[in-house]
Amino acid sequence: MADQVKLRKRLEKLLKQDGNDLCVDCKKRGPRWASANLGVFMCIDCSGIHRALGVHISFVRSVNLDSWQEKQVEVSRCHLTKYADLIPSIY
Ligand SMILES: [Zn+2]
Repeated sequence: MADQVKLRKRLEKLLKQDGNDLCVDCKKRGPRWASANLGVFMCIDCSGIHRALGVHISFVRSVNLDSWQEKQVEVSRCHLTKYADLIPSIY
């Protein structure tokens, strides 16, 4: 699907932006997972934690393996700053 290729390219671009090149939780380099509803990127270890929280809190997708929807990529672009406020409530 051409759309997926395009969306993945946008995700890759987002991953290169300042701050997105580190896991949002543990600051490990090169996150390959993301929460599509929170709009943050994370490493595989932290993706497991997010998965355990439930999809109603964090909808975990793989940057490489899962298909993405246009609006999920948009969320990843827009919501990054809000995550910091959210952390105390889910940990
Ligand atoms: Zn991590």
